[in-house]
Amino acid sequence: MPDPISPFLLPSAAGTSPEDKIVEASFRELLECYLASNHRKKVEVIEKAFRFAKEAHKGARRRSGEPYILHPIAVARIVVEELGLGSTSICAALLHDVVEDTDYTRDDIERNFGSRIADIVEGVTKISGGIFGDKASVQAENFRKLLLSMSTDIRVVLVKMADRLHNMRTLGSMRPEKQFKIAGETLYVYAPLAHRLGLSKIKYELEDLAFKYEHPQKYREIIEKVNETEEHRKAIVEQFVSPIRKMLDDAGFKYEIKARVKSAYSIYKKMETKKIPFEEIYDVYAVRVIFENDDDALEKIKCWQIYTFFTEGHRLHPERLRDWVSVPKANGYRALHLTAMGPEGKWIEVQIRSRKMDEIAELGYAAHWKYKDGVSEDETELDTWMNTIKEILAHPEPNALDFLDTIKLNLFSSEIYVFTPKGDLLTLPSGSTVLDMAFAIHSQLGLHCMAGKISHKLVPLSHQLQSGDQVEIITSNTQSPTPAWIDYCHTAKAKSRIRTYLRKAENVDILSPEELDQIGAPAGDREEKKSLVRKLLRNPFSSKKKRGERRSAPIDRKKVFMLYPDDKEPNYHLESCCSPLPGDDVLGFVNEDEEVVVHKVSCPIAMRLKSAYGSRLVVTKWGASSSNFMSTIAIDGLDRHGILEEIVDLVSHKFGIDIRSMNISTRQEVFHCDMSFHVDTAETVDNLCESLLHLKGIKFAKRTS
Ligand code: MN
Repeated sequence: MPDPISPFLLPSAAGTSPEDKIVEASFRELLECYLASNHRKKVEVIEKAFRFAKEAHKGARRRSGEPYILHPIAVARIVVEELGLGSTSICAALLHDVVEDTDYTRDDIERNFGSRIADIVEGVTKISGGIFGDKASVQAENFRKLLLSMSTDIRVVLVKMADRLHNMRTLGSMRPEKQFKIAGETLYVYAPLAHRLGLSKIKYELEDLAFKYEHPQKYREIIEKVNETEEHRKAIVEQFVSPIRKMLDDAGFKYEIKARVKSAYSIYKKMETKKIPFEEIYDVYAVRVIFENDDDALEKIKCWQIYTFFTEGHRLHPERLRDWVSVPKANGYRALHLTAMGPEGKWIEVQIRSRKMDEIAELGYAAHWKYKDGVSEDETELDTWMNTIKEILAHPEPNALDFLDTIKLNLFSSEIYVFTPKGDLLTLPSGSTVLDMAFAIHSQLGLHCMAGKISHKLVPLSHQLQSGDQVEIITSNTQSPTPAWIDYCHTAKAKSRIRTYLRKAENVDILSPEELDQIGAPAGDREEKKSLVRKLLRNPFSSKKKRGERRSAPIDRKKVFMLYPDDKEPNYHLESCCSPLPGDDVLGFVNEDEEVVVHKVSCPIAMRLKSAYGSRLVVTKWGASSSNFMSTIAIDGLDRHGILEEIVDLVSHKFGIDIRSMNISTRQEVFHCDMSFHVDTAETVDNLCESLLHLKGIKFAKRTS
């Protein structure tokens, strides 16, 4: 067979400028990746798509100054190399920005490349420009489009995911406030979506990139610590796995053992939520055993056989065995997880997977296609999830942000498994209640649900289900939802159905008391209903000032906004939800009075606003200050004589900080202390906590506000 590349790279097609050589070379690399894959070799159409896109984007440049066409080439390369997709998706990736950014239309694409490629390009076009437009309603509409396109051809979302990944990899050349907006959306929508689709590698990379731009300092610190500890970690892991290697060899396994490091973002999240230092995160240590297997019937048995190797000579953590081989996660993930005690008393997480399981874990549903023919006809768990999304779309929320939160609940949750009385298995997000289960089975069952019965015991609607529960739903014809029900459930589907019901019932306000009784609305609920509606419609930036009051001069959103704590009449204010201090990573939103509302970058409320109100974002930095801020820290330790004096001495003498309040409680040997004081910067508080940890017996010291 002749070399399939050469006929398409004739000098006539390629220019001679140095820039053009770079473009042609990078396309050649793309083709080489494609030819190295298992796909049929449809080089011709890919070449045609490249020429078409190159011509269409001619003269256009990215913000970095590069020729624009390098972006679609890079996206196509992610599509083939990291998502394992074939020629249709590669062409769509090459053409993905043509309709959006050039004069060519969908019809032009269809005429040249057929309707399938045109459909994907159109789908990607509809959802680009950021999922989030400037107004919340636009944003929800775009999001709805994304989910709809996903339920027709998942390749639309996969190409979009590749596009986002490349944009995140090259985010450095964007303006800072754009960086925040794009990083925010990535954390809010794309990373959870990647997780849902089982694209774990891409999920971790997206999270790490977003983290790097949002908290550059913390990102660097964690990466440094990970690098510093690498040698030691390798030694520990090697010592841990060497007896396992021997057992695997003796049993005739062909395998690969990988030592895995937790991602920077997961380490950061764990440090923040558990308020522990880097050194205490035990699952920084992780090992993956991937074994070759050509007989599907033996896959499960082999996993458990390898499991037994770890039980010999290692202490296993009794609560950390996860069998996702027998019951896969909803995103298709399968593996056996265990945690064993390694050298130096370090817990090490072990993941046991066949090669196939590993590829599915890394590539998600893209890999399923590799193993199954015509998987689109297959009723997979993902299809079930998408059907849920379709149902939510059919009953959309009136408020855009609310709608996003509703969907997000479904994106983030991990699953529990429960059974009906007949033994049917249902997958629900963890945290689901009896009411959620009722709605998951059927809307009518949900709307009339009274209680549940688990192993002969009656439980209320709000009872949280555990994996393995066998649940009977008890209904009554006279039962109907009240606003309080929204708090009784966890799933987007149930909440959405209850809201739809309540909205219909909302007209109760103009009905007579008799009519109210007739539709069964209890009097006490009416006021509650109205306040609920108000809450749904509230705009987080609506002005608190009365009409006629002075508005500040417009704020230039493209410039860094400086926060001067000494300013007597500042045109910014620090939000109370996260109480930022000088030195914290912060960002601002310009409100309707052209004032800057300041949040910590890590504040969950800011995270939500960031993706919804990206156009109001302004990058903020702290200026110099001489005044002080109130801060509170929490200290935990083992009680001993004189410890309190030492704490007070450190704070008030060594640090010269005046303590404003102090609250101490002791239970048996353990004491807890909350202390408030005025301080100049967040850095001082961090230094103080660091020093407190050096006092004998102190186990924990961290700023709480
Ligand atoms: Mn693009």
